Amino acid sequence: MALTRSQRAFEAARGVIAGGVNSPVRAFKAVGGQPVFIARGQGPCVIDLDGNRYIDYVASWGPLILGHAHPAVVEAVSRALRDGTSFGAPTERETHVAARIREAMPSIERLRFVNSGTEATLSAIRLARAFTGRDRIVKFAGCYHGHVDALLVQAGSGAMTFGRPSSPGVPASVTADTLVARYNDVPGIEALMAEHGRRVAAVIVEPVAGNMGVVPPEAGFLPALRRLCDEAGSLLVFDEVMTGFRVGWGGAQGRYGVRPDLTTLGKVIGGGMPVGAYGGRREIMEQVSPDGPVYQAGTLSGNPLAMACGLATLEVLSAPGAYERLEASGRRLAEGLREAASRHGVASQVHQAGSMLCAFFAEGPVRDDVTASASDTARYGRYFQGMLRRGVYLAPSQFEAMFVGTAHEDEDIAATLVAADESLKELSAA
Ligand SMILES: *Cc1c(COP(=O)(O)O)cnc(C)c1O
Repeated sequence: MALTRSQRAFEAARGVIAGGVNSPVRAFKAVGGQPVFIARGQGPCVIDLDGNRYIDYVASWGPLILGHAHPAVVEAVSRALRDGTSFGAPTERETHVAARIREAMPSIERLRFVNSGTEATLSAIRLARAFTGRDRIVKFAGCYHGHVDALLVQAGSGAMTFGRPSSPGVPASVTADTLVARYNDVPGIEALMAEHGRRVAAVIVEPVAGNMGVVPPEAGFLPALRRLCDEAGSLLVFDEVMTGFRVGWGGAQGRYGVRPDLTTLGKVIGGGMPVGAYGGRREIMEQVSPDGPVYQAGTLSGNPLAMACGLATLEVLSAPGAYERLEASGRRLAEGLREAASRHGVASQVHQAGSMLCAFFAEGPVRDDVTASASDTARYGRYFQGMLRRGVYLAPSQFEAMFVGTAHEDEDIAATLVAADESLKELSAA
């Protein structure tokens, strides 16, 4: 049988790129089959090398909240491009993007731009350790904060607390000060902080978990973290790389009304260009070089094209009604998916927070990494393939989010729900 152009492109890529991809989940290992290679994006859709068109809910893993090639973004980036791609010197756009962010998230009194979410979290951790003079950090099992060595830990067996490296190449010494707690488990984190709190520099959390599938915080979880950090003199770090400007204009901290000491951002603030940021209380951020002793730098940080792209994206999002529309689209999709699953007797738990969604193929409630991992991933793989065949591009893993954007019109959502109905029907028949 003749190979598709995507298949040939993947073969060629594998000859020169490790695994054929530049980030592992793109390889489709979790769902079987081979990745489709994207030729271009247009509004809510991506078009592959073979000319197939898909309604896109990956959205570059979150950044493309306006959809692909939004006219305002194309215009802003084109204009910036003609003025030069990088200077390694300050430009006014950086201040404009920072001001937009501070306006949306008042906890961010000062910030620093970096080039990725990973860079943002590793810088925030370094700063929190320097500011508190403590070494230990606490993370939650199932939360992802980029591929920072100290955060690549999995829960130890038995009683959790000290994590083990989750990747070869991460020395145990580098994770020796990383403690692991369970998401949404208030008694668990209370016990951990009672024992270790006085040595804990920071508690870092995804305020809506989006990297074990989407798991919203239960009422009381985020306020408990705020209280425990205050009692212990530890910093509360919200990793809003995914949720910032996604679950609301004010991020998860605005949505849930809990103020962190430090926040990390990425994804939407770059609008599809490589941007990250970390920021927070002024007295903490004043410890960063050149005002303070904590070293952190970047050749391309605050890059003019990236800033132009991010600024144009935030300008469009700041229009009245943008987040109400996103919330309504998210809700409509979630309700439609729930109805379709129950119509066909497929056990599922559909979670939605703003324009972040996830349908877990799980029998029982999902509230943390353990209950999420009870999902039927083989079933998700078949669902994913069914959707792909019907022109809907979902994340190629059960444990990733589905992102709705402003470019998804009512008819796109309706078409998605028709595809979901047919795909779920297929599953129930199998
Ligand atoms: C995507 C993500 C990161 C990592 O960002 P990169 O830009 O991929 O390095 C960190 N934290 C969270 C919550 C994320 O979703």
